[in-house]
Amino acid sequence: KSGFISIIGRPNVGKSTFLNRVIGQKIAIMSDKPQTTRNKVQGVLTLDESQMIFIDTPGIHKPKHKLGDFMLKVAKNTLREVDVILFMVNATEPRGKGDEFIIDLLEKNETPVFLVINKIDQVHPDDLIGIIESYKDKYDFAEIVPISALQGNNVERLLETIQSYL
Ligand code: GDP
Ligand code: MG
Repeated sequence: KSGFISIIGRPNVGKSTFLNRVIGQKIAIMSDKPQTTRNKVQGVLTLDESQMIFIDTPGIHKPKHKLGDFMLKVAKNTLREVDVILFMVNATEPRGKGDEFIIDLLEKNETPVFLVINKIDQVHPDDLIGIIESYKDKYDFAEIVPISALQGNNVERLLETIQSYL
């Protein structure tokens, strides 16, 4: 099994930290799935039974700047082409404009979207419920997975869950 995964989320939620933790190989791509040139490969994780190819979603990283129609289309197309979208949010901050921007962009995407709540090492478990609630109604997430990309909590479980969607 192999598939493409895109991690989206506003700056500083921990996307790079997560990628750095999970990525084994940085460049090589060994999937037979079609790959469009505009999708930049960020890294490849090769496990016994599967391969996860993490790709960049152009246009998603600068929600502060108004996106041109073209970039918006590129971003939306990329999100349609991947197998799993990880929408990463910060457990220590309330839902904000940057999050709204991305939720709007997701629209009614056919691709399964996971809500990945990162930095749970920084919040009390009791507070996690409120955080989940604040996102839950905004989108029909396929999975909701709290993690700590920094400490590794639940990261293995997230990878297993992704695997089950490939
Ligand atoms: P990005 O902008 O989404 O790529 O975010 P980064 O990966 O650069 O992380 C931004 C900051 O958050 C860095 O200082 C990380 O060390 C920190 N960070 C990332 N993940 C976690 C986490 O799970 N827990 C804590 N406490 N900090 C984290
Ligand atoms: Mg980053």
